[in-house]
Amino acid sequence: MRLVVLTRAWRLHDHPALQAGGPSALVALDSFDGDWPRRTACWRRLSRRELAFKLRSQGLAPLDARRLDSRALAELARLGLSEIHLDAACDPLGDAWLQRLQGAGLPVYRHAPALTLLELLLEGRPTLPRSFSAFHRLFQARAHIQPAQDFHAASPMALPASLKALEWQEEATATDSSLPSGWQPGEEAGLAALASFMERNWSVDSREWERSAPSAFAEGGSSGLSPWLAQGNLGPRRLWQALGEALDQPASAPLAASLRRQLVWRDYALALHAHHPSLEWEAVAPAWRLFPTRPLAGRLEAWKEGRTGIPVVDAAMRQLRDEGWMHNRLRMMCGTWLVKQMGQPWVDGLAHFREQLVDWDPALNAMNWQWCAGCGVDAQPWFRLFSPEKQAERADPEGALLRRWVPELSPLSLPVARRAWALTPLERAAVDYPVADPDPSRGRAEALEAWARFRA
Ligand SMILES: Cc1cc2nc3c(=O)[nH]c(=O)nc-3n(C[C@H](O)[C@H](O)[C@H](O)COP(=O)(O)OP(=O)(O)OC[C@H]3O[C@@H](n4cnc5c(N)ncnc54)[C@H](O)[C@@H]3O)c2cc1C
Repeated sequence: MRLVVLTRAWRLHDHPALQAGGPSALVALDSFDGDWPRRTACWRRLSRRELAFKLRSQGLAPLDARRLDSRALAELARLGLSEIHLDAACDPLGDAWLQRLQGAGLPVYRHAPALTLLELLLEGRPTLPRSFSAFHRLFQARAHIQPAQDFHAASPMALPASLKALEWQEEATATDSSLPSGWQPGEEAGLAALASFMERNWSVDSREWERSAPSAFAEGGSSGLSPWLAQGNLGPRRLWQALGEALDQPASAPLAASLRRQLVWRDYALALHAHHPSLEWEAVAPAWRLFPTRPLAGRLEAWKEGRTGIPVVDAAMRQLRDEGWMHNRLRMMCGTWLVKQMGQPWVDGLAHFREQLVDWDPALNAMNWQWCAGCGVDAQPWFRLFSPEKQAERADPEGALLRRWVPELSPLSLPVARRAWALTPLERAAVDYPVADPDPSRGRAEALEAWARFRA
């Protein structure tokens, strides 16, 4: 008899742990969300409820993984349990699960949320490649991506009365208001989002695609699939396979190739977290742990609330607050602005994204924050600073984001509103918008000064 413990992947399709457990396995669901930020916890709860319903409709009553203490595991072993398959990332939370289950003295196999088996990919290498291109080359040479399959349960063993207390209990169905409206957690919604994404017009130029960064709910800019991927509702192999079909068509091939590359970035982040369990709080590059920051609570709060006086940053940060999502280009802009021009510790930005994102993933968030701060792998050099005006032109060419999220600048023309840190006294009198602290030229000077002090 096998036991499958699910902690991350709330779906029946493309599920390596369920496949490895086989159709007669006992399935246990992690019912504790206290280790997760509020929005993610809510997404998990709703996804788990859907999955439990699906398992039950296949005749399989899930267990509550948190009730699997050493006594319960010993009892299962006595009844013939021979191995455990754990669905968990190679990160501190996943490690804690692994340790706990290993206490039963049975073999425990971990199945991480990556696209490929990272142990095989990196086999024989003492360290993880420090650049994405090197990792990508390795991936192209070695990755073996299993076809995504659907799981179907056979009739499992009936639990003896002594173990009935282990059964997963239906969670309260009270409406949960932690998620921004408009999002639909769960496998069904994730598969529907994938299907509608695949039906989009793919014949646009991939640079054109990257340039527009609309709302999370509008078409264009990117796939918009990250919440379902991050919360385990959509299998990465299923997406990879769908992109493979798009690769066969000349019109959609460039975009499909660029999205597959993004998925390899995802595996890079997951591998990085496995190699650096402290990725969320400690710079990968040791020298950067001493980088001089200039913590100022007022600046951090202004950034969180979208009141920095830099319109593109404020628009994106307000979108994050209200929709729980923003486009990658804007994440890079907001992240680097906080860390470089505003001089705040990257861990504070990371913690805020952790709370706000509906697609929060510990590895992806941490790798990208370290990228913004120049202290991780493949990070951009510190002295390369984004211009808020150029980024706004690139990410929001029509000004749709700006008009939607910073309506107080609507009396001004788009070119003037984009540079609202440089308003004349007359223009400023017409709008109620914060004075930038710092403005781009002071921010640049402060960032370069910190860089000079660090290098001295
Ligand atoms: C500071 C910062 C924090 C971030 N935090 C997160 C996070 O917590 N969760 C998260 O899913 N993404 C995070 N990202 C990466 C990226 O911004 C999002 O994955 C992307 O914007 C999601 O939108 P999409 O699905 O439309 O992306 P698409 O461009 O359609 O990409 C498809 C998928 O590829 C993966 N991917 C795309 N970009 C990256 C990247 N830079 N690094 C790793 N994988 C990537 C994601 O799984 C994404 O869903 C962060 C980026 C930055 C700069």
